[in-house]
Amino acid sequence: MYATSLHCFYCGADFPLTHRGSCTNCATLGEESALSETLGVQYDLAAIKRQLDRDELVRRAAGLWRYRELLPVVDPAFRIELGAGGTRLAPLARIPEAMAGNRLFMKVEGSNPSGSFKDRPIGVAASVALEQGARGLACLTSGNIGSAMAAIAAKAGVSSLVLLLGAAGLADQGAAVNVEKYVQISTYGAEVVTPVGGLGQLYALADRIEAEMGWSFMHNVQAYQTDGDKTTAFEICEQLGWKAPAAVFVPTGTGTNLFGLWQGFVLFKELGFIDALPRMFAVQPLGAASLVAAWEAHRAIPAVLQQTEANLAPPISHRVSGYHAYKAIQESGGGAVAVADREMLAALKDLASYEGIYAETASAAALAGIRRAMALGFLREEETRQTGVVGILTSHGLKNSLALSQVFTPPPRVEGTWEALRNYLESRRVKL
Ligand SMILES: [Zn+2]
Repeated sequence: MYATSLHCFYCGADFPLTHRGSCTNCATLGEESALSETLGVQYDLAAIKRQLDRDELVRRAAGLWRYRELLPVVDPAFRIELGAGGTRLAPLARIPEAMAGNRLFMKVEGSNPSGSFKDRPIGVAASVALEQGARGLACLTSGNIGSAMAAIAAKAGVSSLVLLLGAAGLADQGAAVNVEKYVQISTYGAEVVTPVGGLGQLYALADRIEAEMGWSFMHNVQAYQTDGDKTTAFEICEQLGWKAPAAVFVPTGTGTNLFGLWQGFVLFKELGFIDALPRMFAVQPLGAASLVAAWEAHRAIPAVLQQTEANLAPPISHRVSGYHAYKAIQESGGGAVAVADREMLAALKDLASYEGIYAETASAAALAGIRRAMALGFLREEETRQTGVVGILTSHGLKNSLALSQVFTPPPRVEGTWEALRNYLESRRVKL
C-alpha cells in the first residue's frame, strides 16, 4: 500500500485514510461550499519509484487496476473489476477545426461499462469503502454516479440505494429525473428514490444512512473518487507516447474529475514518466458556472451561485464547484469557460456526424469549450497545432437521447416505393 494519508489542498491538514467526508477545518457540515471539496490522497512516491516504471506499466492489461500501486486499495480481492478504463483517445480528423490543422483529441469515456467516466472514480471509491467494511453502497446523483455504483454493487454482491435527482447539485429546484438513467440504475438492482429537500438536509440524511445501516455514502469518500479519476490522465499520457497534451478540457460540475486528472498528471511527472504538465480548463454551462465566475473575478475561493439556470447539461449543473478543481486550474495556468446549450448541441452533432462519436450533451461541452477557448484566444497556436489539446467526453449519448427528442423532430413518414423515397432524398439534397 503506497497511499499514506488524505491531504487538504486548502489548509494543508492531513487525515488518516479512514477519514470520511470533507476537511473538518475547512468545510461546515450541511453547508454548500467550495471548501467541502479539498481533499486528495497522498502517496509514498519514493517507494513507488522503486517498484514501478514505464516498462512495467506497458506490460499490464488496460484498465483501472493497471495502475494499482497508484490507487488506494490494498487487498486485490477488493479491486472490483467491471472493465472500467482503457478507453480510446480519438484523434479528431473531420471536424472543421481538425481539417484546419488543429491537433484535437477526445477521450471517449462513454465506452466505460456503465456508459460514463464515473466507472473510474466510483470503481475506486466503492472498492475502498467495501475494503473498509461497508455493508452496502449509497449515493446522491443525477444518474451517472448511480449507474456506476449500482453496477459495482451488483458485481460485489452488496445492496445499493440511489437518491436520484434531476440535476445533482440542485436538490430543491424540482428538475425532472432522467428516465434513461433511472431505468439503467434500476436494472442493476438498486433501490431508487427521489428525495425531497435541500442539499444540506440530504447530506445530513447521507450521514444518518451510514450510521443506521453501516453503508458507505459515495459523497463521504469523495477523495477516493478523485483518485480514480487520475487513471484517465495516466492513460492519456501513455496514449500520447508518454507525453501530456498542452491543455485538457473537462466538463465540470463538482470538479472531482478535473482535480483527479490534474493529480494524475502531477503524479506521473513526479514519477518521471512525463516531462511537462498540461493546462487544465473547466467547461461549465452558462448560468451554472461558479468556476468561471470565480476565475474571471480573481476570487480566492469560488462563491456559491444563488440560483442556476436550466440548461441541457444537468450532470454539470451545480451551484458551486470544489476548491480543489479551482486550485488545479490556477496551478496549471489554465482557466474556465462557459458554454450555451446551442454550443453544446452543435458540438454533440459535429462529434457524431463528423467523427462517429455519440456523447451525452454535458460531455459534448468538452468540444464546445475548446471552441470557445480558441475563439477567446486562450490557447496558443503552438498548443493547438503541435502539442495537441484533449477534451474529456465524459459519457455516452444514449444516456440522454430522450431529452434530445425535443430538439430532433420525429422522422417523416415516406411511402415505401423507390419513387417516393427518391423524391424525398432529392428534397433533402442527398447525393444519389
Ligand atoms: Zn482543510
